[in-house]
Amino acid sequence: MAIAKGKKEYKMYNVKSMKAEEFINDKEIMDTLDYAEKNKNNIELIDGILEKARLRKGLNHRDASVLLACEIPEKVQEIYSLAEQIKKDFYGNRIVLFAPLYLSNYCVNGCVYCPYHLKNKHIARKKLTQEEIVKEVTALQDMGHKRLAIEAGEDPVMNPIEYILECINTIYSIKHKNGAIRRVNVNIAATTVENYRKLHDAGIGTYILFQETYNKESYEKLHPTGPKSDYAYHTEAMDRAMEGGIDDVGLGVLFGLELYKYEFAGLLMHAEHLEAVHGVGPHTISVPRVKKADDIDPDAFDNGISDEIFCKLAACIRIAVPYTGMIVSTRESKEVRDKIIRLGVSQVSGGSKTSVGGYYAPEPEDECSEQFDVSDTRTLDEVINWLMSKEYIPSFCTACYREGRTGDRFMSLCKSGQIQNCCHPNALMTLKEYLVDYASPETCKLGNELIMKELANIPNEKVRQIVVERLSKIEQGDRDFRF
Ligand code: SF4
Ligand code: SF4
Repeated sequence: MAIAKGKKEYKMYNVKSMKAEEFINDKEIMDTLDYAEKNKNNIELIDGILEKARLRKGLNHRDASVLLACEIPEKVQEIYSLAEQIKKDFYGNRIVLFAPLYLSNYCVNGCVYCPYHLKNKHIARKKLTQEEIVKEVTALQDMGHKRLAIEAGEDPVMNPIEYILECINTIYSIKHKNGAIRRVNVNIAATTVENYRKLHDAGIGTYILFQETYNKESYEKLHPTGPKSDYAYHTEAMDRAMEGGIDDVGLGVLFGLELYKYEFAGLLMHAEHLEAVHGVGPHTISVPRVKKADDIDPDAFDNGISDEIFCKLAACIRIAVPYTGMIVSTRESKEVRDKIIRLGVSQVSGGSKTSVGGYYAPEPEDECSEQFDVSDTRTLDEVINWLMSKEYIPSFCTACYREGRTGDRFMSLCKSGQIQNCCHPNALMTLKEYLVDYASPETCKLGNELIMKELANIPNEKVRQIVVERLSKIEQGDRDFRF
């Protein structure tokens, strides 16, 4: 619905509308930011919001925006402490690992923050053949990865849906030594319901699509050409994905393109819309920041955020949507990941390459096809070792979607906290697989000590006994146990 004011038409906010400009409503966001600004020192209101947040049922975009705007040091500290506590309650000390796999960097779009834009004529353009995918996935399996996020530029001729489906099929079929990719998440351009249905039938895990920015005006400037320039088609993609049968969708914005408070409100409004219309909020939220890349200079964007604001954003997201996983990639350095993980992150990538074909062979310098510079360049073994030294349990678990725990079934288990009964033992068993098959001796020692300690944290005696038996079977060569 729209109302006319003078010559300009204003869209009305409607969380259940299927129109982008009504469920991500600019006026509602501006009113929210105004409300947050006016109340950022309103201790009584902030205390009330924190009280609500302690119920662990999340917050709406207005309340959460007040927390993000709050600058009272003691209250900000309370926000951080609550985020840490919610993370512990919902995700324990587990961190799930994944890696990106770039299939093709051919792209017809003109995104000004990405080096794969069409006008970049000097970047090496590559597209993996099925034989090359076998090599890439074999290399990823040899590192220990079980969960991938596939990435491809938008190019209807070079990367049609048939190509993506063939790649998914190839990835799932590769069994090398004890390795297997058990969950393929997909990050490709917004598409049709019919194509989403094909992806669903191919057995994908989460469909991920970053909004980049929720501000329509900025969006149109940042996407001057190509199919992605259609704000509504892009913003409504998750509704089509869900209509096509995909239960788990992953949201994200590219922080640095627009004002972070605007993006935060938009992100939460998107989550509220999915929940209101489909009964399921986003499965994950990613929080990438603009990074240096081939012909991209992050300083050219005015809205870059400091590490401190980045951490505050993560804490406020954790509080606002406690049941939604949060992902931080190797765009961020070890130091930043160190700080932010405890505030609510549930998934990180490790040992990542952001080039096409970068896992099985290093690229010559004059053939660079990277999407962005990786800040955390450690190997997967180093990342695992680091996580364990911080008392986190690295997990390679992919059990849920393979057990049919997706969409509202997953969310109800998650909201009730029951999912923990699966996550914790699955983390220990998949970590054990990693230790036996891929870890360095030092990581192996640290991991076995951690598993022994964490066994005691399985509350149910019978489940603990089953896990002990399965750990022993993993040592003897059995694989893929799960709850
Ligand atoms: S962000 Fe995606 S759509 Fe845009 S240029 Fe890069 S690969 Fe293409
Ligand atoms: S049991 Fe489900 S929610 Fe828990 S780590 Fe495994 S896949 Fe994720």
